[in-house]
Amino acid sequence: MTDSVLEKNAVVRGLCPHDCPDTCALLTTVEDGRAVKVLGNPDHKHTQGVLCTKVSRYTERTYSPDRLMHPLKRIGPKGAGQFVQVSWDEAIQDIAAKLTSISAENPEAVLPYSYAGTMGWVQGEAMASRFFHKMGASLLDRTICASAGGEGLVYTLGGKFGMKTEFFSESKLIVIWGSNSITSNVHFWRRAQEAKRNGAKLICIDPRHSETAEKCHVHLPIKPGTDAALAFAIMRELVVNQWLDQDYIDKYTLGWDALRERAMTWTLARAAEVCGVDEALIKSLAKDWGTTPKAAIRLNYGMQRVKGGANAVRAIACLPALTGAWRDKAGGLLLSSSSNFNVNKQDLHRPDLLGARRPRMLNMATIGNDLNHPGDAAWGPAVKALVVYNSNPVAIAPQSGKVVQGFAREDLFTVVMEHFQTDTADYADYVLPATTQLEHWDVQGSYGHTDLLLNRPAIAPVGQAKSNSEIFRLLAKAMGYTEPCFSEDDLSMCRTAVGPKVNFQTLLDVGFVSMPVADAPFAEGGFATPSGRCEFVSDRLASQGLDPLPDHIPNYEVPEAGHRYPLAMISPPARNFLNSSFVNVESLRAIEKEPLLEICSEDAAVRGIATGDTVKVFNDRGEYHCKADVTTRARPGVVNGLGIWWRKMGLNGTNVNEVTSQLLTDLGRAPVFYDCQVEVALLKKA
Ligand code: SF4
Repeated sequence: MTDSVLEKNAVVRGLCPHDCPDTCALLTTVEDGRAVKVLGNPDHKHTQGVLCTKVSRYTERTYSPDRLMHPLKRIGPKGAGQFVQVSWDEAIQDIAAKLTSISAENPEAVLPYSYAGTMGWVQGEAMASRFFHKMGASLLDRTICASAGGEGLVYTLGGKFGMKTEFFSESKLIVIWGSNSITSNVHFWRRAQEAKRNGAKLICIDPRHSETAEKCHVHLPIKPGTDAALAFAIMRELVVNQWLDQDYIDKYTLGWDALRERAMTWTLARAAEVCGVDEALIKSLAKDWGTTPKAAIRLNYGMQRVKGGANAVRAIACLPALTGAWRDKAGGLLLSSSSNFNVNKQDLHRPDLLGARRPRMLNMATIGNDLNHPGDAAWGPAVKALVVYNSNPVAIAPQSGKVVQGFAREDLFTVVMEHFQTDTADYADYVLPATTQLEHWDVQGSYGHTDLLLNRPAIAPVGQAKSNSEIFRLLAKAMGYTEPCFSEDDLSMCRTAVGPKVNFQTLLDVGFVSMPVADAPFAEGGFATPSGRCEFVSDRLASQGLDPLPDHIPNYEVPEAGHRYPLAMISPPARNFLNSSFVNVESLRAIEKEPLLEICSEDAAVRGIATGDTVKVFNDRGEYHCKADVTTRARPGVVNGLGIWWRKMGLNGTNVNEVTSQLLTDLGRAPVFYDCQVEVALLKKA
């Protein structure tokens, strides 16, 4: 095919844009202008020709009868979902007029809201950033998922760097920490299986006895928010048993004496008490970590959704340096590989369009509070216009009762770009139909491997859908923004995004290129920190008045004796959903059936709850209803509220985020979804 013309019959190379570390390469078969099949590209070594269940049904999603086909304008009360079809011209002109009038008074009253509904660099924050920078709108702190862990890595390793995922298949010990890889990192799981077949031991650390935990040799079901305590106990065992690589520590780390002193306070007994697991399990884990060559940790973001999330990542990220695991390409740690990619943000996002203005930044995790803020001199103006793309905040933001209250404001002008009529779209003044990945250009790196991929459009936009970038181009034109960057097309923006160092022709010809990353990036130090060492002690943290060492920071919400909310709740995604994406795909929802709360038999028995009963989960923030599953997947004292259901598809028009809080993590200003105490009560017997 040529570079910009769609063919009626073709197999088209693309990439999966969903919020998943695997970033698969796609092959879409098009027959007579219609996508009939989406498969994994067998030539891409990380995809290996395999897609997850969710995306292998992409044509069902693309051609769903529920797909938004044309612009809609609200005619009923907010949230009622009553809309009338309007033309693109009418929608763009009216939205531009409203945004012009609100921004003329104070541009910071306009707020963009977006995240990783698509992770593409062009359909994400490219034309959108240019548009909001030109306007001088409030900035959005995009923290909802990974910023605590990201900060933890940055202060320890110097960036979001780590092992190459392909070398896990050569590891002899794999600690899967805070991840249900079978659900959320399936291509890594294939590597782990390969390692297992070659004799590797697999250990899972997760409060939930997940599908992944079930298939590992050992499972440590620690309490939520106790990961740093576990890491410190491992460190102490390494010291006591002389399992340290002193040469590596001396040459390539900073601050071991101070870290050792703190670690020595974490006896096995203390850690066992805090983590809620047997001493013997911790001792055995430490021995495996200290004595197995090619020992690797696959850390994931679940464990950092608590008050001390960033500190926990810091503590865990110290472990490979203590044993010199980084010396081998099959040893070390991987949380995220995203710092290996250099997005050309200067040219793509155009922060220079701000000029001398420095708009305030609002945190996407506290959108519930922020939409209800009346505005004042210190905080700035009340939010009067909200433009949502690549996100479904009414379903995914914490404390959703507050979020709904904010979105329901009649004086808030809301625009939502979407594929489907989501919970958030129900509160829009205008809903604009957006293209899916099969219908537009994009380019993207990965946070689980080190390849950059290009996405070609395979089919023409369905209905009247337009790409996000095209919508922002039209709005910019209607608002009189005349800079040439507002006319740049999507293919050109793909080139801009990757910058001159990447061979774009290879991306066009092959669909992906590998970043030049060393196989064992820290074998001889070379950390990206200011000292060039793995920083156990961080001067950068000290200079902010923060503890320069990692520490165990207990959760905000802890179960106390006689407490009204004695159960800790975590809310991992249901297996066939990806955050709130795919909940509306009928065949996937049919597998998940109904919102579930996993609860162990002891906790269920004292509440008279059996599998299939309808229960309410509640705390001071709100309540949601779901079906109980009495199961060994839940440990005593912890319930698992599987998410993230659309509220309107739940049992009582709410979902699990009704009870989560808007408090933030120690570093990274991220939400604490898994730092949440609740009570559960029977509503109705099955
Ligand atoms: S969601 Fe993840 S595993 Fe599934 S196709 Fe996309 S990148 Fe691959």
